[in-house]
Amino acid sequence: MNENKIYIVGHKSPDLDSVAGAISYADFKNTIEKTDKYVPVLAGASNEETEFALKKFGFEKPAILENAKDQNVILVDHNEFSQAVDGIGEANILEVLDHHKVDFKYNEPIKFLVEPWGASCSIIAQMYFDRRMEISKDLAGLMLSAILVDTVITKSPTCVEKDKEIIEKLAKLAGIEDWQDLGMELFKVCSSVKELSAEEIIKSDFRDFNFKAGKVGIGQAETVDLSEFSEKEEELLNELDKLRKEGEYHSALLLITDIIKEGSLFLVSSENQDKVKEALGAKLEKNRVYIDGIISRKKQVVPKFTDVFDR
Ligand code: MN
Ligand code: MN
Repeated sequence: MNENKIYIVGHKSPDLDSVAGAISYADFKNTIEKTDKYVPVLAGASNEETEFALKKFGFEKPAILENAKDQNVILVDHNEFSQAVDGIGEANILEVLDHHKVDFKYNEPIKFLVEPWGASCSIIAQMYFDRRMEISKDLAGLMLSAILVDTVITKSPTCVEKDKEIIEKLAKLAGIEDWQDLGMELFKVCSSVKELSAEEIIKSDFRDFNFKAGKVGIGQAETVDLSEFSEKEEELLNELDKLRKEGEYHSALLLITDIIKEGSLFLVSSENQDKVKEALGAKLEKNRVYIDGIISRKKQVVPKFTDVFDR
């Protein structure tokens, strides 16, 4: 990796918003600064819907940045070091652009932009609009896809009015008549789990959270049909057990979110299940519980854990 370059990178287990965020923010920065020094990179292998969207809108997959030590980096779509690329503690961080809760410490003043919106790509799109900059048709399609996935086609409680406004604008720029259709297309791709192993399902979108009571790992998979997972539940629970022990987690969870029914099945492995029950406010049966109305890890699940695990 080149020392004159500035790498724009999303979180580990990159989702579409992390990847599209890195690509679009690099484009934005390169355009306004008339340079090519901003380079989008990935903090790990990308998932199915990311590959699908990159292909659909004609983008090359960014390279993986294995270690950020001594590199110039801009973080998008995350700010917690526990979710960042390896070597982040020894990287030169220039900027952060995100839409998650803030848990960030750095010994120098840097540009730090967080908006409580539904996607990093919404924040970046707004920056293009503010400067009346052109967004290419393909880039508009890619950013739109990322916002649709992050906001669960606007159904998530993380989706705000601003996101809806931006979705409409980007859809127009991308020449997409029905963005709902594009959203469903993307979720059908992310929920095609039949060929994936339990480990791949869990790790495709798995986040670590460090609470006072211990480290909790929370994975999320979205589906348009929860029954697709029923045969895999035991295997997923075994995998969560294994992952918890190997990774020294207090608890490891997988939420399988049914975006049509708008609820999530929680699969739980924990060294203290009572604490998880308390956090979720629900009884577990055979290490699992379906909770209606929960579709957002960030806005609905993490705060519940913060209340109980950070006490
Ligand atoms: Mn993300
Ligand atoms: Mn995001």
